[in-house]
Amino acid sequence: MQLYSTNNKSLQVSFKEALFQGLPIDNGLFMPLNIPEIPKEVITQLDKYEFQEIAFQVAKALLNGEIPDDDLKKIIDAAVSFPAPVNMLDEQTAVLELFHGPSLAFKDFGARFMAKTMAYFNQKTDKDLIILVATSGDTGGAVAAGFHQTPGIQVVILYPSGKVSPLQEKQLTTLGHNIHAFEVNGTFDDCQALVKQAFLDQTLRDEIKLSSANSINIARLIPQIFYYWEAYKQVYKKGKPVVFVVPSGNFGNLTAGLIAQKMGLPVQHFVAATNANDIVPDYLSSGKYNPRPSVPTLSNAMDVGNPSNFVRIMDLYSSTWNIVKSHISGYAFSDTETENAIQQIYHTHNYIMDPHGAVGYLAWEKYREEFQTEALGIIFETAHPAKFLEEVERILGQKIKIPESLQSIQTKDKKSTPIEVNYLEFKNQLLKSFKTK
Ligand SMILES: *Cc1c(COP(=O)(O)O)cnc(C)c1O
Repeated sequence: MQLYSTNNKSLQVSFKEALFQGLPIDNGLFMPLNIPEIPKEVITQLDKYEFQEIAFQVAKALLNGEIPDDDLKKIIDAAVSFPAPVNMLDEQTAVLELFHGPSLAFKDFGARFMAKTMAYFNQKTDKDLIILVATSGDTGGAVAAGFHQTPGIQVVILYPSGKVSPLQEKQLTTLGHNIHAFEVNGTFDDCQALVKQAFLDQTLRDEIKLSSANSINIARLIPQIFYYWEAYKQVYKKGKPVVFVVPSGNFGNLTAGLIAQKMGLPVQHFVAATNANDIVPDYLSSGKYNPRPSVPTLSNAMDVGNPSNFVRIMDLYSSTWNIVKSHISGYAFSDTETENAIQQIYHTHNYIMDPHGAVGYLAWEKYREEFQTEALGIIFETAHPAKFLEEVERILGQKIKIPESLQSIQTKDKKSTPIEVNYLEFKNQLLKSFKTK
């Protein structure tokens, strides 16, 4: 598999190199040089395939031999080890549940595939790999669970102090072993900036072997393509055109869908759903991209002021606003609207949705009304509602059921390293903890 930098098409690397570099040295993002098409005869018979088989076909087409089939199969079987079921709310509204993994959020797919591929390529080296990841909540939990106790890999998670839910914080700070949580006195954007700066710091990279696990890493994006196919498989016999509705923050999930479409997945349209951090819906209506500091909301995993995958979307569509608009519509919603939606979905459909999925639900309702579409909307439920327990219970005025995996971490002790938004302090911490020479 060849990938290029969005800043320079002639800067090309293999999947393995992109996996470990995370970002190209010119600060672009890696994109696949070829987006292969899945054969028509596979697409028309998708229902004959198990989820893992579909994932294997998609990964095999993209990786194009870089990992031998037998090894790739093992990686897929270990990474895609839980289902992604579609639930029908009404004739035109489906919910794709992406929360059946260990951290109860869709990021488990990306984190697990990445951990397995990194462990696969890192088998023969003796130097520990340090994974740096900034999280606004869910990334960290998924990465921590995905990499926990992976030999030869240490994970450093930066999260904004006080800006993730108590349960999310437990997921970041209680695993121990090779998982290290840095509690940053700032915002998610500050965390992300610290990580970006570390990757651009050659003197640091000379000392420790760094890699990223953010949604910018192509290995996070690839497995997110799998479940678009899996969702389509479950609904295509209904004979309706399909619209994917994606609650979005850094836009990795949505970008994966655009790639699935380029691979031949029959998608009529994409709907990007955001909270008050409406940079992309704003771009879609005005043609102007104005990144700005993020504001905190109820759906905090989408509190992103400068979505990192926006450059990939620009790259896919040659920075042409009209083309982008022909693929994606965007809508933004306030916390009050989101709370009302959670109540409405519960009372109308007897379904408990988390705040992120509820933003998606609102976007689908709006799109459906605006275009009077006959299509089937597949809303991504990106996290289990129990991950946002206090909020969802307050909004619904009742207790909700907590999955076992969350119950057990509630009693564990938090362990984190507090740091200020100060790059030198961060760098010194990293050197102190991980310099091996
Ligand atoms: C990360 C996350 C999102 C946003 O996904 P992006 O790929 O960053 O757009 C939405 N919902 C939940 C629950 C998340 O954890």
